[in-house]
Amino acid sequence: MLRRTKILATLGPATDKPGVLDGLIMAGVDVVRMNFSHGSAQDHIDRANMIRELSQKAGRRVGILADLQGPKIRIARFKDTKVFLNEGQDFALDINLDPLAGDNTQVGITYEPLAMEVNPGSRLLLDDGRIVLDVVNVENMRVNCKVVVGGDLSNNKGINLLGGGLSAAALTEKDKEDIKTVALMKCDYVAISFPRTAEDLNEARRLLQAEGCYAGIVAKVERAEAIVPDVMDEIILASDAVMVARGDLGVEIGDANLPAVQKLLIKRTRELNRVAITATQMMESMIDNPIPTRAEVFDVANAVYDGTDAIMLSAETASGKHPIKAVEAMDRICLEAEKQRIVRISDHRMDKEFERDDEAIAMSAMYMANHSKIKGIVALTESGSTPLWMSRISSGIPIFAMSSSETTLGRVTLFRGVFPIYHKIDERHDHAEVNRDVVRELRKWNIANNGDKFIITKGDLTGVKGGTNALKVIVVGQGLTP
Ligand code: PEP
Repeated sequence: MLRRTKILATLGPATDKPGVLDGLIMAGVDVVRMNFSHGSAQDHIDRANMIRELSQKAGRRVGILADLQGPKIRIARFKDTKVFLNEGQDFALDINLDPLAGDNTQVGITYEPLAMEVNPGSRLLLDDGRIVLDVVNVENMRVNCKVVVGGDLSNNKGINLLGGGLSAAALTEKDKEDIKTVALMKCDYVAISFPRTAEDLNEARRLLQAEGCYAGIVAKVERAEAIVPDVMDEIILASDAVMVARGDLGVEIGDANLPAVQKLLIKRTRELNRVAITATQMMESMIDNPIPTRAEVFDVANAVYDGTDAIMLSAETASGKHPIKAVEAMDRICLEAEKQRIVRISDHRMDKEFERDDEAIAMSAMYMANHSKIKGIVALTESGSTPLWMSRISSGIPIFAMSSSETTLGRVTLFRGVFPIYHKIDERHDHAEVNRDVVRELRKWNIANNGDKFIITKGDLTGVKGGTNALKVIVVGQGLTP
Protein backbone atom coordinates (compact mmCIF):
# COMPACT_ATOMS: atom_id res chain seq x y z
CA MET A 1 0.00 0.00 0.00
CA LEU A 2 1.29 3.48 -0.89
CA ARG A 3 1.46 5.91 2.03
CA ARG A 4 -0.47 9.08 1.19
CA THR A 5 0.75 11.38 3.96
CA LYS A 6 4.15 12.82 3.10
CA ILE A 7 7.13 12.70 5.47
CA LEU A 8 9.38 15.75 5.66
CA ALA A 9 12.72 15.20 7.43
CA THR A 10 15.17 17.89 8.53
CA LEU A 11 18.81 17.30 7.59
CA GLY A 12 21.68 17.98 10.00
CA PRO A 13 24.78 16.41 11.55
CA ALA A 14 22.96 13.12 12.24
CA THR A 15 22.04 12.69 8.57
CA ASP A 16 25.60 13.48 7.43
CA LYS A 17 26.80 10.18 8.92
CA PRO A 18 27.53 7.44 6.34
CA GLY A 19 24.47 5.52 5.21
CA VAL A 20 21.90 7.69 6.98
CA LEU A 21 20.62 9.66 3.96
CA ASP A 22 20.22 6.45 1.92
CA GLY A 23 18.43 4.95 4.92
CA LEU A 24 16.04 7.90 5.15
CA ILE A 25 15.17 7.59 1.46
CA MET A 26 14.65 3.82 1.77
CA ALA A 27 12.47 4.41 4.85
CA GLY A 28 10.23 6.66 2.74
CA VAL A 29 11.19 10.33 3.20
CA ASP A 30 9.37 12.41 0.57
CA VAL A 31 10.88 15.84 1.16
CA VAL A 32 13.98 16.98 3.05
CA ARG A 33 14.26 20.26 4.93
CA MET A 34 17.44 22.34 4.94
CA ASN A 35 17.34 24.48 8.07
CA PHE A 36 19.05 27.80 7.25
CA SER A 37 19.20 28.66 10.98
CA HIS A 38 22.19 26.31 11.12
CA GLY A 39 25.11 25.55 8.82
CA SER A 40 26.80 27.38 5.95
CA ALA A 41 25.53 27.88 2.40
CA GLN A 42 28.06 25.27 1.27
CA ASP A 43 26.68 22.72 3.79
CA HIS A 44 23.21 23.13 2.26
CA ILE A 45 24.49 22.94 -1.32
CA ASP A 46 26.46 19.75 -0.53
CA ARG A 47 23.47 18.13 1.15
CA ALA A 48 21.15 19.05 -1.74
CA ASN A 49 23.60 17.54 -4.25
CA MET A 50 23.83 14.39 -2.17
CA ILE A 51 20.05 14.06 -1.92
CA ARG A 52 19.62 14.46 -5.67
CA GLU A 53 22.26 11.84 -6.36
CA LEU A 54 20.82 9.33 -3.89
CA SER A 55 17.22 9.87 -4.89
CA GLN A 56 18.11 9.33 -8.54
CA LYS A 57 19.88 6.11 -7.57
CA ALA A 58 16.85 4.96 -5.57
CA GLY A 59 14.43 5.88 -8.40
CA ARG A 60 12.36 7.97 -5.99
CA ARG A 61 11.99 11.72 -6.31
CA VAL A 62 12.69 13.51 -3.03
CA GLY A 63 11.69 17.19 -2.78
CA ILE A 64 13.92 19.84 -1.18
CA LEU A 65 12.57 22.52 1.15
CA ALA A 66 14.81 25.39 2.30
CA ASP A 67 13.68 26.88 5.62
CA LEU A 68 14.90 30.47 6.03
CA GLN A 69 15.87 31.57 9.53
CA GLY A 70 13.70 34.70 9.68
CA PRO A 71 13.71 37.27 12.46
CA LYS A 72 14.06 35.04 15.49
CA ILE A 73 14.58 37.51 18.34
CA ARG A 74 17.34 36.40 20.69
CA ILE A 75 19.15 37.35 23.86
CA ALA A 76 22.92 37.93 23.49
CA ARG A 77 25.56 35.98 25.43
CA PHE A 78 26.60 35.42 29.05
CA LYS A 79 30.11 35.85 30.45
CA ASP A 80 29.89 32.23 31.67
CA THR A 81 27.81 30.73 28.82
CA LYS A 82 24.78 30.24 31.06
CA VAL A 83 23.12 31.47 34.25
CA PHE A 84 20.44 30.19 36.60
CA LEU A 85 17.43 32.42 37.21
CA ASN A 86 15.39 32.10 40.40
CA GLU A 87 11.65 32.62 40.48
CA GLY A 88 10.86 36.11 41.82
CA GLN A 89 14.26 37.70 41.12
CA ASP A 90 14.84 40.77 38.94
CA PHE A 91 16.35 40.32 35.49
CA ALA A 92 16.84 42.88 32.69
CA LEU A 93 17.14 42.74 28.89
CA ASP A 94 19.29 45.64 27.78
CA ILE A 95 20.10 46.69 24.21
CA ASN A 96 22.99 48.86 25.46
CA LEU A 97 24.74 46.07 27.34
CA ASP A 98 27.93 44.57 25.86
CA PRO A 99 26.61 41.48 23.97
CA LEU A 100 29.16 39.23 25.71
CA ALA A 101 28.62 40.59 29.23
CA GLY A 102 25.39 38.92 30.40
CA ASP A 103 25.18 37.70 34.00
CA ASN A 104 22.61 36.60 36.53
CA THR A 105 20.98 40.08 36.61
CA GLN A 106 20.98 41.20 32.97
CA VAL A 107 21.71 40.21 29.37
CA GLY A 108 22.02 42.02 26.02
CA ILE A 109 19.48 41.61 23.19
CA THR A 110 19.79 41.73 19.41
CA TYR A 111 16.40 43.33 18.70
CA GLU A 112 16.45 47.10 19.16
CA PRO A 113 12.69 47.85 19.14
CA LEU A 114 11.92 45.50 22.05
CA ALA A 115 11.87 48.33 24.60
CA MET A 116 9.28 50.20 22.49
CA GLU A 117 7.06 47.19 21.90
CA VAL A 118 6.49 45.92 25.44
CA ASN A 119 4.60 47.46 28.35
CA PRO A 120 4.52 46.85 32.11
CA GLY A 121 2.74 43.50 32.47
CA SER A 122 3.83 42.11 29.05
CA ARG A 123 4.94 38.50 29.34
CA LEU A 124 8.16 37.40 27.61
CA LEU A 125 8.90 33.74 26.93
CA LEU A 126 12.51 32.70 26.54
CA ASP A 127 13.94 29.40 25.27
CA ASP A 128 10.60 28.15 23.84
CA GLY A 129 8.77 29.14 27.01
CA ARG A 130 11.02 27.38 29.51
CA ILE A 131 11.81 30.75 31.14
CA VAL A 132 9.00 33.26 31.74
CA LEU A 133 9.59 36.96 32.49
CA ASP A 134 7.01 39.66 33.29
CA VAL A 135 7.94 43.20 32.26
CA VAL A 136 7.99 45.61 35.23
CA ASN A 137 9.02 48.78 33.39
CA VAL A 138 11.24 50.12 30.62
CA GLU A 139 14.05 52.59 31.32
CA ASN A 140 16.29 53.94 28.52
CA MET A 141 15.98 50.87 26.25
CA ARG A 142 16.40 48.57 29.25
CA VAL A 143 13.49 46.18 29.87
CA ASN A 144 13.30 45.41 33.59
CA CYS A 145 11.54 42.14 34.37
CA LYS A 146 10.53 39.85 37.22
CA VAL A 147 11.26 36.11 36.76
CA VAL A 148 7.97 34.17 36.84
CA VAL A 149 9.41 30.77 35.86
CA GLY A 150 13.15 30.36 36.42
CA GLY A 151 15.80 27.83 35.45
CA ASP A 152 18.93 27.60 33.32
CA LEU A 153 19.29 30.24 30.61
CA SER A 154 22.14 29.99 28.11
CA ASN A 155 23.56 32.09 25.25
CA ASN A 156 21.43 33.21 22.26
CA LYS A 157 18.10 31.74 23.36
CA GLY A 158 14.97 32.95 21.52
CA ILE A 159 12.46 35.48 22.91
CA ASN A 160 8.71 35.50 22.16
CA LEU A 161 6.05 37.89 23.38
CA LEU A 162 2.93 36.13 24.66
CA GLY A 163 0.04 37.16 22.40
CA GLY A 164 2.43 38.33 19.67
CA GLY A 165 2.97 41.91 18.52
CA LEU A 166 6.72 42.17 17.97
CA SER A 167 7.15 44.03 14.68
CA ALA A 168 10.32 42.42 13.25
CA ALA A 169 10.07 42.11 9.45
CA ALA A 170 9.82 38.52 8.21
CA LEU A 171 12.74 38.72 5.78
CA THR A 172 16.09 39.64 7.31
CA GLU A 173 19.23 40.64 5.40
CA LYS A 174 20.52 37.09 6.01
CA ASP A 175 17.33 35.63 4.49
CA LYS A 176 17.74 37.83 1.41
CA GLU A 177 21.30 36.55 0.97
CA ASP A 178 20.14 32.94 1.57
CA ILE A 179 17.48 33.33 -1.14
CA LYS A 180 20.36 33.53 -3.66
CA THR A 181 21.70 30.18 -2.39
CA VAL A 182 18.21 28.67 -2.50
CA ALA A 183 17.87 29.72 -6.15
CA LEU A 184 21.25 28.18 -6.97
CA MET A 185 20.18 24.95 -5.26
CA LYS A 186 16.93 24.86 -7.29
CA CYS A 187 14.88 24.03 -4.19
CA ASP A 188 11.29 22.89 -4.64
CA TYR A 189 9.97 24.89 -1.66
CA VAL A 190 11.15 27.82 0.45
CA ALA A 191 9.73 28.30 3.94
CA ILE A 192 9.37 31.86 5.24
CA SER A 193 9.65 32.16 9.03
CA PHE A 194 7.38 34.46 11.07
CA PRO A 195 5.35 36.04 8.21
CA ARG A 196 2.95 38.68 9.56
CA THR A 197 0.97 39.36 6.40
CA ALA A 198 0.58 38.20 2.81
CA GLU A 199 3.01 40.95 1.75
CA ASP A 200 5.89 39.20 3.56
CA LEU A 201 5.25 36.15 1.36
CA ASN A 202 4.77 38.20 -1.80
CA GLU A 203 8.09 39.90 -1.17
CA ALA A 204 9.84 36.54 -0.75
CA ARG A 205 8.29 35.31 -4.00
CA ARG A 206 9.41 38.45 -5.85
CA LEU A 207 12.99 38.10 -4.56
CA LEU A 208 13.10 34.41 -5.51
CA GLN A 209 11.67 35.00 -8.97
CA ALA A 210 14.19 37.80 -9.54
CA GLU A 211 16.83 35.07 -9.07
CA GLY A 212 15.00 32.86 -11.58
CA CYS A 213 13.61 30.52 -8.91
CA TYR A 214 9.97 29.37 -9.01
CA ALA A 215 9.99 27.34 -5.79
CA GLY A 216 6.72 26.98 -3.88
CA ILE A 217 6.39 29.36 -0.92
CA VAL A 218 5.68 27.84 2.49
CA ALA A 219 4.22 30.17 5.12
CA LYS A 220 5.33 29.11 8.59
CA VAL A 221 2.44 30.11 10.82
CA GLU A 222 4.15 30.90 14.10
CA ARG A 223 2.96 34.36 15.10
CA ALA A 224 -0.23 35.13 16.99
CA GLU A 225 -1.04 37.83 14.38
CA ALA A 226 -1.04 35.22 11.59
CA ILE A 227 -4.06 33.34 12.96
CA VAL A 228 -6.45 36.31 13.08
CA PRO A 229 -9.17 35.04 10.64
CA ASP A 230 -8.79 37.52 7.71
CA VAL A 231 -5.00 37.60 7.99
CA MET A 232 -4.94 33.78 8.09
CA ASP A 233 -6.83 33.56 4.80
CA GLU A 234 -4.58 36.15 3.15
CA ILE A 235 -1.47 34.31 4.31
CA ILE A 236 -2.80 30.96 3.07
CA LEU A 237 -3.75 32.43 -0.32
CA ALA A 238 -0.33 34.09 -0.76
CA SER A 239 1.44 30.77 -0.18
CA ASP A 240 1.62 27.35 -1.85
CA ALA A 241 1.86 25.49 1.45
CA VAL A 242 1.27 26.36 5.09
CA MET A 243 3.27 24.98 8.00
CA VAL A 244 1.66 24.70 11.42
CA ALA A 245 4.91 25.65 13.18
CA ARG A 246 3.83 24.44 16.59
CA GLY A 247 7.08 25.38 18.37
CA ASP A 248 7.01 29.16 18.12
CA LEU A 249 3.24 29.33 17.61
CA GLY A 250 2.67 27.44 20.86
CA VAL A 251 4.88 29.88 22.70
CA GLU A 252 2.99 32.90 21.33
CA ILE A 253 -0.58 31.66 21.74
CA GLY A 254 -0.16 29.21 24.63
CA ASP A 255 0.14 25.43 24.24
CA ALA A 256 -3.50 24.72 25.13
CA ASN A 257 -4.67 26.66 22.07
CA LEU A 258 -2.55 24.66 19.63
CA PRO A 259 -4.79 21.63 18.91
CA ALA A 260 -7.78 23.75 17.84
CA VAL A 261 -5.56 26.05 15.75
CA GLN A 262 -3.90 23.05 14.06
CA LYS A 263 -7.30 21.64 13.05
CA LEU A 264 -8.56 25.01 11.83
CA LEU A 265 -5.41 25.82 9.86
CA ILE A 266 -5.30 22.44 8.11
CA LYS A 267 -9.01 22.61 7.26
CA ARG A 268 -8.85 26.17 5.93
CA THR A 269 -5.63 25.50 4.01
CA ARG A 270 -7.22 22.56 2.22
CA GLU A 271 -10.43 24.50 1.56
CA LEU A 272 -8.37 27.20 -0.13
CA ASN A 273 -6.56 24.57 -2.26
CA ARG A 274 -3.22 24.88 -0.53
CA VAL A 275 -1.02 22.23 1.10
CA ALA A 276 -0.67 21.75 4.89
CA ILE A 277 2.41 20.66 6.85
CA THR A 278 2.25 19.78 10.55
CA ALA A 279 5.55 20.39 12.33
CA THR A 280 7.51 20.19 15.56
CA GLN A 281 7.92 17.66 18.35
CA MET A 282 5.92 14.95 16.57
CA MET A 283 8.48 12.30 17.59
CA GLU A 284 10.48 14.36 20.09
CA SER A 285 11.30 11.43 22.41
CA MET A 286 12.93 9.61 19.47
CA ILE A 287 15.81 12.09 19.62
CA ASP A 288 17.03 9.68 22.31
CA ASN A 289 14.79 6.60 22.17
CA PRO A 290 14.32 4.00 19.40
CA ILE A 291 10.50 3.96 19.71
CA PRO A 292 7.95 6.78 20.04
CA THR A 293 5.76 7.34 23.08
CA ARG A 294 2.10 6.39 22.78
CA ALA A 295 1.25 10.11 22.87
CA GLU A 296 3.50 10.69 19.84
CA VAL A 297 1.81 7.82 17.97
CA PHE A 298 -1.53 9.51 18.60
CA ASP A 299 -0.17 12.93 17.57
CA VAL A 300 0.98 11.63 14.17
CA ALA A 301 -2.27 9.70 13.59
CA ASN A 302 -4.38 12.70 14.65
CA ALA A 303 -2.55 14.95 12.17
CA VAL A 304 -3.44 12.39 9.45
CA TYR A 305 -7.09 12.48 10.58
CA ASP A 306 -6.95 16.30 10.52
CA GLY A 307 -6.06 16.01 6.80
CA THR A 308 -2.48 17.23 6.86
CA ASP A 309 -0.54 16.70 3.62
CA ALA A 310 2.80 16.26 5.35
CA ILE A 311 4.26 15.68 8.79
CA MET A 312 7.66 17.00 9.72
CA LEU A 313 10.64 15.75 11.73
CA SER A 314 13.08 18.35 13.11
CA ALA A 315 15.78 17.43 15.64
CA GLU A 316 14.58 13.80 15.49
CA THR A 317 16.39 13.41 12.16
CA ALA A 318 18.77 16.42 12.19
CA SER A 319 20.57 15.58 15.40
CA GLY A 320 18.78 12.62 16.99
CA LYS A 321 20.16 9.15 17.70
CA HIS A 322 17.58 7.27 15.58
CA PRO A 323 16.80 9.29 12.42
CA ILE A 324 15.87 6.28 10.26
CA LYS A 325 13.73 4.66 12.96
CA ALA A 326 11.85 7.97 13.40
CA VAL A 327 10.89 7.92 9.70
CA GLU A 328 9.97 4.23 9.86
CA ALA A 329 7.74 4.90 12.87
CA MET A 330 5.95 7.75 11.09
CA ASP A 331 5.52 5.58 8.00
CA ARG A 332 3.82 2.72 9.85
CA ILE A 333 1.59 5.04 11.91
CA CYS A 334 0.42 6.91 8.78
CA LEU A 335 -0.30 3.69 6.89
CA GLU A 336 -2.54 2.44 9.71
CA ALA A 337 -4.24 5.82 10.21
CA GLU A 338 -4.95 6.05 6.48
CA LYS A 339 -7.05 2.87 6.64
CA GLN A 340 -9.69 4.68 8.70
CA ARG A 341 -12.90 5.63 6.90
CA ILE A 342 -12.69 9.20 8.21
CA VAL A 343 -9.70 9.94 5.93
CA ARG A 344 -11.22 8.27 2.86
CA ILE A 345 -14.58 10.00 2.58
CA SER A 346 -15.02 13.58 1.51
CA ASP A 347 -17.56 16.37 1.60
CA HIS A 348 -15.02 18.87 0.28
CA ARG A 349 -16.68 21.56 -1.86
CA MET A 350 -19.88 19.53 -2.41
CA ASP A 351 -21.91 22.76 -2.34
CA LYS A 352 -19.53 24.81 -4.55
CA GLU A 353 -19.64 25.80 -8.19
CA PHE A 354 -16.32 25.27 -9.96
CA GLU A 355 -14.89 28.20 -11.86
CA ARG A 356 -12.77 26.27 -14.30
CA ASP A 357 -13.27 23.18 -16.46
CA ASP A 358 -9.93 21.65 -15.42
CA GLU A 359 -10.93 22.05 -11.77
CA ALA A 360 -14.33 20.45 -12.47
CA ILE A 361 -12.61 17.52 -14.21
CA ALA A 362 -10.27 17.04 -11.23
CA MET A 363 -13.25 16.97 -8.86
CA SER A 364 -15.22 14.61 -11.15
CA ALA A 365 -12.28 12.21 -11.31
CA MET A 366 -12.16 12.06 -7.51
CA TYR A 367 -15.93 11.58 -7.22
CA MET A 368 -15.77 8.70 -9.68
CA ALA A 369 -12.66 7.20 -8.04
CA ASN A 370 -14.20 7.32 -4.57
CA HIS A 371 -17.44 5.73 -5.77
CA SER A 372 -16.27 2.97 -8.09
CA LYS A 373 -13.54 0.36 -8.41
CA ILE A 374 -10.56 2.41 -9.59
CA LYS A 375 -6.96 1.32 -9.03
CA GLY A 376 -5.49 4.81 -9.49
CA ILE A 377 -5.74 8.18 -11.18
CA VAL A 378 -3.18 9.48 -13.63
CA ALA A 379 -3.05 13.25 -14.04
CA LEU A 380 -1.02 14.30 -17.07
CA THR A 381 -0.08 17.71 -15.80
CA GLU A 382 1.98 20.71 -16.79
CA SER A 383 1.47 23.02 -13.81
CA GLY A 384 0.49 20.50 -11.11
CA SER A 385 -2.89 22.21 -10.52
CA THR A 386 -4.97 19.14 -11.41
CA PRO A 387 -3.29 16.80 -8.89
CA LEU A 388 -3.42 19.61 -6.28
CA TRP A 389 -7.20 19.96 -6.66
CA MET A 390 -7.58 16.19 -6.64
CA SER A 391 -5.54 15.76 -3.49
CA ARG A 392 -7.73 18.23 -1.55
CA ILE A 393 -10.39 15.49 -1.66
CA SER A 394 -10.08 12.79 1.01
CA SER A 395 -9.57 9.47 -0.74
CA GLY A 396 -7.79 6.15 -0.58
CA ILE A 397 -7.02 6.13 -4.33
CA PRO A 398 -3.46 7.06 -5.39
CA ILE A 399 -2.96 9.96 -7.79
CA PHE A 400 0.02 9.65 -10.15
CA ALA A 401 1.17 13.06 -11.39
CA MET A 402 2.91 12.50 -14.73
CA SER A 403 4.85 15.46 -16.03
CA SER A 404 8.05 16.37 -17.79
CA SER A 405 8.35 19.59 -15.76
CA GLU A 406 10.97 19.25 -13.02
CA THR A 407 9.36 22.15 -11.10
CA THR A 408 5.99 20.41 -11.10
CA LEU A 409 7.40 17.02 -10.14
CA GLY A 410 9.25 18.62 -7.23
CA ARG A 411 6.15 20.57 -6.17
CA VAL A 412 3.85 17.53 -5.96
CA THR A 413 6.20 15.68 -3.57
CA LEU A 414 4.35 17.42 -0.70
CA PHE A 415 0.78 16.77 -1.92
CA ARG A 416 -1.07 14.13 0.05
CA GLY A 417 -1.77 11.00 -2.01
CA VAL A 418 0.12 12.28 -5.09
CA PHE A 419 3.13 10.43 -6.50
CA PRO A 420 5.42 12.12 -9.04
CA ILE A 421 6.42 10.24 -12.21
CA TYR A 422 8.58 11.75 -14.92
CA HIS A 423 6.82 11.23 -18.22
CA LYS A 424 7.24 12.97 -21.55
CA ILE A 425 3.98 13.01 -23.45
CA ASP A 426 4.00 11.99 -27.07
CA GLU A 427 4.21 15.20 -29.13
CA ARG A 428 1.80 13.80 -31.75
CA HIS A 429 -1.11 14.18 -29.30
CA ASP A 430 -2.73 10.99 -30.50
CA HIS A 431 -5.06 10.17 -27.59
CA ALA A 432 -4.93 6.40 -27.97
CA GLU A 433 -1.14 6.54 -28.17
CA VAL A 434 -0.95 8.79 -25.07
CA ASN A 435 -3.09 6.27 -23.15
CA ARG A 436 -0.88 3.39 -24.27
CA ASP A 437 2.24 5.31 -23.16
CA VAL A 438 0.68 5.97 -19.77
CA VAL A 439 -0.06 2.29 -19.26
CA ARG A 440 3.48 1.33 -20.30
CA GLU A 441 4.80 3.81 -17.72
CA LEU A 442 2.53 2.38 -15.00
CA ARG A 443 3.61 -1.15 -15.86
CA LYS A 444 7.26 -0.07 -15.70
CA TRP A 445 6.72 0.95 -12.05
CA ASN A 446 4.69 -2.22 -11.27
CA ILE A 447 1.62 -0.11 -10.58
CA ALA A 448 -0.67 -1.64 -13.23
CA ASN A 449 -1.77 -5.24 -13.85
CA ASN A 450 -4.17 -6.72 -16.40
CA GLY A 451 -7.77 -5.80 -15.57
CA ASP A 452 -6.92 -2.76 -13.38
CA LYS A 453 -9.09 0.27 -14.10
CA PHE A 454 -7.43 3.71 -14.16
CA ILE A 455 -8.71 7.23 -14.74
CA ILE A 456 -6.53 9.45 -16.91
CA THR A 457 -7.05 13.23 -16.99
CA LYS A 458 -5.39 15.21 -19.75
CA GLY A 459 -5.72 18.01 -22.26
CA ASP A 460 -5.89 18.11 -26.04
CA LEU A 461 -2.61 19.99 -26.17
CA THR A 462 0.52 18.90 -24.34
CA GLY A 463 2.69 21.45 -22.52
CA VAL A 464 -0.21 23.84 -21.91
CA LYS A 465 -1.00 25.00 -18.37
CA GLY A 466 -4.67 24.76 -17.44
CA GLY A 467 -5.41 22.69 -20.53
CA THR A 468 -6.97 19.62 -18.88
CA ASN A 469 -10.30 19.03 -20.62
CA ALA A 470 -10.72 15.25 -20.71
CA LEU A 471 -11.33 12.36 -18.33
CA LYS A 472 -10.72 8.91 -19.78
CA VAL A 473 -11.32 5.53 -18.17
CA ILE A 474 -9.07 2.68 -19.31
CA VAL A 475 -8.77 -0.98 -18.34
CA VAL A 476 -5.23 -2.32 -18.48
CA GLY A 477 -4.75 -4.99 -21.13
CA GLN A 478 -8.17 -4.42 -22.72
CA GLY A 479 -9.32 -2.61 -25.84
CA LEU A 480 -6.63 -0.31 -27.16
CA THR A 481 -4.52 -0.51 -24.00
CA PRO A 482 -1.44 -2.72 -23.69
C1 PEP B 1 8.41 25.83 14.78
O1 PEP B 1 8.58 26.85 15.45
O2 PEP B 1 7.60 24.96 15.08
C2 PEP B 1 9.22 25.64 13.55
C3 PEP B 1 8.96 24.67 12.71
O3 PEP B 1 10.20 26.54 13.29
P1 PEP B 1 11.76 26.36 13.64
O4 PEP B 1 12.05 24.90 13.66
O5 PEP B 1 12.46 27.11 12.58
O6 PEP B 1 11.88 26.99 14.97
